[in-house]
Amino acid sequence: MRRRWPPPPGWWRRSSRRADRAVAADGRAGPGRQEPAGGGPAGAERAGPEAAAGLETAAGLETAAGADERWLRMAVEISRRCPPSPSAFSVGAVLVDRSAGLAADASARVLATGYSRELDPRDHAEEVALRRLAQHAQDGPPVPAGSLTLYSSLEPCSARASRPRTCTELIIEAGIRRVVFAWREPEVFVDCEGAEIMRRAGLDVVEVPSLAAAVRAVNAHLLA
Ligand SMILES: [Zn+2]
Repeated sequence: MRRRWPPPPGWWRRSSRRADRAVAADGRAGPGRQEPAGGGPAGAERAGPEAAAGLETAAGLETAAGADERWLRMAVEISRRCPPSPSAFSVGAVLVDRSAGLAADASARVLATGYSRELDPRDHAEEVALRRLAQHAQDGPPVPAGSLTLYSSLEPCSARASRPRTCTELIIEAGIRRVVFAWREPEVFVDCEGAEIMRRAGLDVVEVPSLAAAVRAVNAHLLA
């Protein structure tokens, strides 16, 4: 069953109050981090990755934290498409415009996705998604990067061998203000400080460790 869309008038306001409570219960969250639960579906016509992720939820009752988990689950699902590598993680990334959640009649939008080695053996997932975002900006109406959330199954890299620019640098440079990821990069290849660097740069960085096991499972071949 697909969720009902468009939702009934005022649904997000109800969700927002629930989101406030959820955020207040989150130890990392403070005042000002509240966000309307704008994580509606990517649109019924965009059933691809969302349907693959099995992400349907009860219509109109989703919290902000629930929306984060839903989009992040999509990123994890996308990471399963990565060509396996013995020397790099398999990661999925989704760029979502959640600013539309401020309008009762608008859905959040998936603007771009990416996964490791998707187009080139050196590609990182976030890099591919950001590249597509840049393309999107050329082809369509401009989307303010500050209103976007980047969901990545793995903590964005702060050191890499494959290319000179790290995903952490690319994300900050692109003007993304919010990053949600599931798994802190373990010290298999490098010591990753992506989360710390982004927080120091003023980004809102959210970890959802409840999905970390799923990301570990995708990368089990590197952890043996
Ligand atoms: Zn990277």
